[in-house]
Amino acid sequence: MSVPEHVLVIGAGLAGLRTVQGLRRAGYEGRLSLVGAEEHLPYDRPPLSKQYLAGEWDRSRIELASEDDLEELGVRTHLGRAAVALRPGEVELDDGATLHADAIVLAVGVTSRTLDGQPGSIHVLRSVDESDGLRDALADASSLLVVGAGFVGAEVASTAVDRGLAVTVVETAPVPMERLLGERGGTLVARLMTDAGIDLRTGVSVASLTATGAELSDGSTVSADETVVGIGGRLDLGWLEGSGPDLSGGIPCDERGRVEGLDGVWAVGDAAAWTDPRTGDRARLEHWTSAAEQAAAVAADIAGGDPPPATVPFFWSDQFGLKIQLIGRPGAADEVLTLHGDGLDGGAVKGTVLGYLRGDTLVAVAGFGAARLIARYRRPLSDGVDRAALLKFRDTLS
Ligand SMILES: Cc1cc2nc3c(=O)[nH]c(=O)nc-3n(C[C@H](O)[C@H](O)[C@H](O)COP(=O)(O)OP(=O)(O)OC[C@H]3O[C@@H](n4cnc5c(N)ncnc54)[C@H](O)[C@@H]3O)c2cc1C
Repeated sequence: MSVPEHVLVIGAGLAGLRTVQGLRRAGYEGRLSLVGAEEHLPYDRPPLSKQYLAGEWDRSRIELASEDDLEELGVRTHLGRAAVALRPGEVELDDGATLHADAIVLAVGVTSRTLDGQPGSIHVLRSVDESDGLRDALADASSLLVVGAGFVGAEVASTAVDRGLAVTVVETAPVPMERLLGERGGTLVARLMTDAGIDLRTGVSVASLTATGAELSDGSTVSADETVVGIGGRLDLGWLEGSGPDLSGGIPCDERGRVEGLDGVWAVGDAAAWTDPRTGDRARLEHWTSAAEQAAAVAADIAGGDPPPATVPFFWSDQFGLKIQLIGRPGAADEVLTLHGDGLDGGAVKGTVLGYLRGDTLVAVAGFGAARLIARYRRPLSDGVDRAALLKFRDTLS
């Protein structure tokens, strides 16, 4: 593949920005364009449910690049413009303009899922504008209902409790954050929530939602001044329909981010389903670190270099005074065991580290306020150690 003359990146979030930065770092000297549906310059999303929502960080701290930075990189920006069609070698924007390029990178992320018939006054949280709106609303509220106890819901609940609000969390699964941490890991998050005074209602769903509360599937009701729905991300790829690939599980990519069946097109970040070189499985990871790493790999690939070696997925969440960290792919596990701490036996959650095994092989490690220990498990995890080697390694750390 020859080095392209013009690289067009669609989506000006983390993955899009890191792609253009990575291209210049890799020595790419051709034309670069960045299209973003939001009016804003690229900004960071994790603080939107944490320090920024809490009012501890101002806007400048979440900016990922200034206009000067992008000018210095020689990037032509089209902000406030959405891509509406992809054809071979070109992308059409919502103002009717068509941009031609010999390499196109799709970095479009996901949008918030909502409940059927969700009233417009109910908050969701994906963008800085939504975080601003929620922060202002919380300032005048004394109670909050959080629908969905994924990481965004859990972090919003934690921030709201810190601000003195009475918080109710409703979750359909038996425990919070089950999708990321599994049922046993989720029980520890449930403990963090109830210890913080949250009214946690699991195993129930919302039957109806109004501006002042909800009726739940078990017949109970919750009233609240404000409500946030945090039930995960939704792919918004309608504009790519008809371009070729099956987009139901995300934009399908090989292990270098090249989109299946579309020459000269790559995909990175939350919307991209990359192939895991170890297992051959395809998965989307809505993790900050994966978005940044995929962008670096695609930039190297386009610039004609060797992509950096694949790393194990990493995710973190800050809530209830703890940093929860997860490395690996816990979804593949069929067994969870305690490696450190006694949170699962009713002891302190802080310091607990869980190992996730598939058969006899370590596939993930999760830590709750145990950053030093988690860092030590990266190597055994990428080596895919077996149970005996894992326990032997664990004993060297105790
Ligand atoms: C509140 C919140 C907290 C988070 N906290 C954590 C955390 O603690 N740890 C962690 O690992 N991850 C966290 N994440 C996830 C992390 O932020 C994402 O994985 C990361 O932002 C993904 O980057 P991205 O570039 O793929 O998508 P995004 O950052 O969503 O950027 C995609 C951009 O593309 C634009 N776009 C979409 N469609 C089009 C189109 N057709 N044309 C032009 N532009 C388009 C969108 O408007 C958006 O600006 C959090 C996410 C949120 C929302």
